[in-house]
Amino acid sequence: MSDFDHAIDGDLDPLPGKIAVPDDVQEAIRTLIRWSGDDPTREGLIDTPQRVGRAWKEYCQGYEEDPSVHLSRTFEEVGGYDELVLLKDIPFQSHCEHHMAPIIGTASIAYMPKERVVGISKLARVLNGYARRLQVQERMTAEIAQCIWDHLQPSGVAVVICASHSCMTARGVRTPGVRMMTSRLLGCFLDDDRSRKEVLSLMGY
Ligand SMILES: [Zn+2]
Repeated sequence: MSDFDHAIDGDLDPLPGKIAVPDDVQEAIRTLIRWSGDDPTREGLIDTPQRVGRAWKEYCQGYEEDPSVHLSRTFEEVGGYDELVLLKDIPFQSHCEHHMAPIIGTASIAYMPKERVVGISKLARVLNGYARRLQVQERMTAEIAQCIWDHLQPSGVAVVICASHSCMTARGVRTPGVRMMTSRLLGCFLDDDRSRKEVLSLMGY
C-alpha cells in the first residue's frame, strides 16, 4: 500500500503562471468598483481588475475538471478492510452562487468500502473540485456524496458540511458566527441506524 497518499493535499494545483485577464473582464470589474462608490483609476485600484480576474479563475478552478477523475485510481487489495473510512474536518472555501460571496467551512466525508478504496487525499480533491465553483451548500453536499457513490460503489457514503456564508454574516441579516450544516447520507448510512450513529459520532455530531 505504498501508493497511498498520506498527505492531505486536497487542494487543486495552483494556476500555471499569470494568466491574461481579457479587457472585457477587467472593464466589468472597473464598473463594479465604480458602482461600489470608488474610482477605478486611482492608484491603489489600477491593477485590481487584473488581480480580481485572476483570483476568480482560481476560486472557480473546479470548472476546469471533472472531480470524479480523483476516484479513478483505486486500490482493491486492502486486506479485506471493509470498515468505515472517514476524512474529518477538511477545510474548504467556496462561493455562493447567489451573491458570489465566500462560503468558508469544513467537510467530513466518509464511506464504507465494498471493494475499492482511494488514497485519502482524493476525497479532499473531490471536495475542492466541487467547492471551487459557484455553489449552494446543499447541492455541493449532494454532489460530493453522489460522486463517491457512483465511482467507488461503496456500501455507504456520508457527507456533512458545516460552513459560514459571508452573504449572511457580512451583509443581509449580519449574523457573524452562524454556520449552516448540511448532510447527505447514502446506502448503509441512510438505511441502518447503527451505521448512521457510528459515522455521525465519529464525525463529532
Ligand atoms: Zn449568498
